[in-house]
Amino acid sequence: IAAAGAARNLLHAAREAVRSEVDALGALDAVAGDGDHGVGMLRGLEAACRAADDADPAVGIEELLDGAGSAWSEKAGGTSGALWGAALGALGAALGDRERYTPVVIGEAVAAAAEELVRLGGAEPGDKTMVDAVLPYRDALARAVADGAVLAVAARSAADVARAAADETAALTPRKGRARPLAERSVGHPDPGAISFALIAATVADVLE
Ligand code: ADP
Ligand code: MG
Ligand code: MG
Repeated sequence: IAAAGAARNLLHAAREAVRSEVDALGALDAVAGDGDHGVGMLRGLEAACRAADDADPAVGIEELLDGAGSAWSEKAGGTSGALWGAALGALGAALGDRERYTPVVIGEAVAAAAEELVRLGGAEPGDKTMVDAVLPYRDALARAVADGAVLAVAARSAADVARAAADETAALTPRKGRARPLAERSVGHPDPGAISFALIAATVADVLE
């Protein structure tokens, strides 16, 4: 129940972070995509928060994230919504309901969520998608927790890695998603899904601090 409450707080914080960047994310997606990434992410997070708020106060984190992920996929529309929704569900399933959540357990659950995202989306590293920020985040988190870092410190170092990786997608040419047909226009601009992931990762670190 404490874990479910923490997850609910993180969803709320992510929603507000995306709300404050909604236009910037849309503009980034308009460079070579359809410009809806900001509103899509906000719609998904609003639905996820609503589902989390409406859930029985006694539910565990697994059920909470399952409901939030389904609501996100359903309401966001778009590729990123389907992927975020599935990843949240996978995160909850891997976390399960237990007495204690160690940083190692959390790192492994993030890895399971990343795996689901890659399985469902089929993107490979370098395709210029959110995967290019998610996998470095997963790896940095695993390294930090293996070194014995407390969760807040591990989350911050992984968020910094995600931010740098998201910025580095600017150099890439898109090979997946809606940005592909106008791929050349995208060069010099980072991938919107990678940037929104880095934003959420930074927000998670802020909340855990
Ligand atoms: P849509 O492209 O359907 O309008 P969004 O604009 O919300 O959806 O999301 C676009 C983002 O989704 C891209 O910037 C990219 O990061 C991510 N994305 C697109 N296709 C894939 C994929 N196959 N795997 C992983 N991420 C993807
Ligand atoms: Mg879009
Ligand atoms: Mg779209």
